[in-house]
Amino acid sequence: MTNKDLAELIFPNITKTIEDYEKEYPERNLPEDAIVTRFAPSPTGFVHMGSLLASFVERKAAKDTNGVFYLRIEDTDQERKVENGIIGITTDLKNFGISIDEGAISETEEIGSYGPYVQSSRREIYHAFMKRLVEQGLAYPCFCSKEELEEIRKAQEKRKDRIGYYGRYAKCRKIPVADAIERIKNGEPFTLRLKSPGDYNKKIVVKDLVKGNISFPENDMDIVIMKQDGLPTYHFAHLVDDHLMRTTHIIRGDEWVSSLPTHIQLFQVFGFKPPKYAHISPIMKEEGGVKRKLSKRKDPEAAMSYYHEQGIPVYAVQLYLMTLANTNFEQWWDANKDKTIDDFEFSFSKISKSGGLFDVEKLLNISKNYLSRIKATEFYDMLVSYAKEYDEEFYELITKYKDFTIGLLNIEREQKKPRKDYAKFSDVKELVWYMYDELFEKHEKDYEFSTITDRNEIISMMETYIDKYYDESDDQQTWFEKIKDLSEEFGYAREVKDYKENPDKYKGHVGDVSMVIRVVLTTKSMTPNLYDIMKLFGKNRIISRIEKLKELKKTL
Ligand code: GLU
Repeated sequence: MTNKDLAELIFPNITKTIEDYEKEYPERNLPEDAIVTRFAPSPTGFVHMGSLLASFVERKAAKDTNGVFYLRIEDTDQERKVENGIIGITTDLKNFGISIDEGAISETEEIGSYGPYVQSSRREIYHAFMKRLVEQGLAYPCFCSKEELEEIRKAQEKRKDRIGYYGRYAKCRKIPVADAIERIKNGEPFTLRLKSPGDYNKKIVVKDLVKGNISFPENDMDIVIMKQDGLPTYHFAHLVDDHLMRTTHIIRGDEWVSSLPTHIQLFQVFGFKPPKYAHISPIMKEEGGVKRKLSKRKDPEAAMSYYHEQGIPVYAVQLYLMTLANTNFEQWWDANKDKTIDDFEFSFSKISKSGGLFDVEKLLNISKNYLSRIKATEFYDMLVSYAKEYDEEFYELITKYKDFTIGLLNIEREQKKPRKDYAKFSDVKELVWYMYDELFEKHEKDYEFSTITDRNEIISMMETYIDKYYDESDDQQTWFEKIKDLSEEFGYAREVKDYKENPDKYKGHVGDVSMVIRVVLTTKSMTPNLYDIMKLFGKNRIISRIEKLKELKKTL
């Protein structure tokens, strides 16, 4: 009775070999430095901020090098599976503009020629690799029950030994092949374990692209590679997949660092070249001066839905991810305002070793800058799709008054220092409701008059302005000259400077008068450029706003 017999007994139907699969999934025909990398989540139905960052980095690294970024679904742990768990992930990725070159695209479909990309569909492939190990005596069946494993653990605790299945504790390692065959034939359940060639007293050094060289003791644990249900464990599946899918770089969260000795060993056992590893530290959050990991439970911004509901544009999130990913990005972006993320060269060495600090304020600031730099029409389109989902009333208005809305969004845009007032689409309505009669009608009106507050004077000023000075076709300069004329007529200085020199001679200055116009029209003391607002309004709406003030019951 040989290992070959044992392998044949466990895997009677496996006829394809490792070499067959290597032929089927050949080396990729890519430029030498091309990065082939993957996002490999369990099908839990969602992506959280940490894995969004990792997949963003993966996408970027692959794109920069004309490589491949693929999505592999790691569902060997059937307990973690949720219904529609894949769709949830592909949707989140799509929503954040992270496209894949290969991999799962729905619960049942995939693209690319290195698949299947869902691990539970790769059982036979894993079995071919396991069969080889059993044939070579590098893996063996383990019959230990849960209780027996528990006993081993207790004994180890008592002796203050390392916990695990290794060395003299690896009971089933010593079972003669003939006995193992007998027990399997008798229907005893078993798992398969790797016969680890490692020595805990020896060290291995792994170069991590983020963390630098890390030294570990060799792995000497006989890890389970196949569970009783015939599915591989995560460690084993990742080895087979990353080998056959020709992964060059494994970029993932640093909770996987401690698995490195096991992973490297698996590659070595098969004589495969291991990929390069980059472990990204978790995103941190500072609260009350204390740093902790960003938490899905405590921090709303850890969930992708937050960005949608708030209406934070996808590209702003990407820009922010890039600042988290590469510490030098922000400065670069400041200096290269008209370039895009694609123009920035990503580098592993610029990933923060300690983990980026998540700061919503900073994200909003980035978003503000971004939104100030795009075209009004582009802003408008995104605003429409946001409002469509989250604010029906506003959606109706901005689509009904499309040109007006674009005109409004265009105020103080496309200039050297564009106006920055919107950080997210949910801000817009609250900032510009006064522009729409329908909203003006309903809104609580708190007129922010400051120096001139006499109601009669305000109304008479406005009426004089409309009757005597207002002309729809005036350019900005003429328009302002006329406000100066109006000021003079009411006893206010034409220039602020005149007023300052001779405060007793005037009731105030031109600034006070334009403030009156602004507040009558919008109720607000701070608005985008008044000239532009008035142009958009036209005479009738200006008159109707004067009427509204006249109707107002409360005192100013
Ligand atoms: N399936 C693992 C996870 O859920 C992937 C780890 C890896 O990228 O190797 O995070």
